[in-house]
Amino acid sequence: MVFDEVARDGHEQVLFGFDPVSGLKTIIAIHSTALGPALGGTRFLPYESEDDALEDVLRLSRGMTYKAATAGLDLGGGKAVIIGDPRTDKSERLLRAYGRIVDSLQGRYITAEDMGTTTTDMDMVRRETRWAFGNSVAEGGSGDPSPVTARGLYAAARAVAEMTWGDPDLTGRRFAVQGVGKVGSAFVQLLVEARAEVIIADPQETAVLSAVESYGVKSVDPEEIHTVDCDIFSPCARGAGLNERSIPELGCQAVVGSANNQLATDEDAELLAERDILYAPDFVVNAGGLINVYDELHGYSKPRAMQRVDDIFRATKSILEMSKREGINPNQAAVKVAESRIRDVGDLRRFRRSGEDRN
Ligand code: NAD
Repeated sequence: MVFDEVARDGHEQVLFGFDPVSGLKTIIAIHSTALGPALGGTRFLPYESEDDALEDVLRLSRGMTYKAATAGLDLGGGKAVIIGDPRTDKSERLLRAYGRIVDSLQGRYITAEDMGTTTTDMDMVRRETRWAFGNSVAEGGSGDPSPVTARGLYAAARAVAEMTWGDPDLTGRRFAVQGVGKVGSAFVQLLVEARAEVIIADPQETAVLSAVESYGVKSVDPEEIHTVDCDIFSPCARGAGLNERSIPELGCQAVVGSANNQLATDEDAELLAERDILYAPDFVVNAGGLINVYDELHGYSKPRAMQRVDDIFRATKSILEMSKREGINPNQAAVKVAESRIRDVGDLRRFRRSGEDRN
């Protein structure tokens, strides 16, 4: 059963790690190392079942392969999950045991923070392995990637505006932002600074209050945010929010958001196209955090990382242009770009340097 699931999307390797003392249960999925080591964050969540955890890590690691490939990085795709409640189950022992397991892969998998883990956790994991990035600024890392992810979203929104309305300027454009957590709130700030009109929703009252008070934005019920009449809808909460139930109710002309795996199924990209809603593929527009962490591998340079993140404008535009030119939906165009780069450049890696894999 497990092998069937792993075989379906062509994953290279899946590792199950366990430490009975700390209660660590982790699954690391390496989808592809064709372009470089498989980088992806560690998600710490109280999954309802081990099957759910496996499904999530397989899906997310495949997404990371596409994200790194379309961002033009020398990285493959991987992801890890730790099954448990980060508020009660996290301990030094557990994080260090996890670090030892990451280390056993000798750089084939590189980890960073994700939902349920922080830059400080990565500092702890790094005590056991040099293959943990997304470290705190105090430890020489790049810190929280969320504001950088928001910066990438902003670049993508400008590209979408240029494609849709012939002008990248976001002044006066109306945005509906679903979720004002770490990325959503930073994105709202950028939009307000650009004098866009913003409507938000979040089930967490404190998050709503903070955004309303800090940025003077309006809020609506989380059940309604996708129906708001607007130029751009921005899903910045959980995945699978674009589905056969929500798509007919969307009130926007375009979608640009940070959530991973926004489409419940690949067919939902077609439903969006049929409604003439321009969908900017999630893994293209939310690559800012990954680009930032990637830069740490080369000794972090903020100006270099920001330049690469701003290039999401060009990447988004070229994928949307390709979609138009070839009569395919934007998701298909983005997958095509990723797969062709993996084929063309990944093939070079068969030329090994003596004694190393140039990871
Ligand atoms: P977060 O947990 O800080 O914020 C998510 C917010 O969404 C929370 O405030 C939560 O209350 C809210 N939310 C949950 N359900 C909602 C609903 N139904 N309607 C409206 N709001 C809802 O997470 P984050 O780091 O801001 O990430 C947001 C999304 O972007 C996630 O899907 C994440 O995987 C993805 N992402 C994040 C980064 C990053 O750099 N943090 C990078 C790439 C992708």
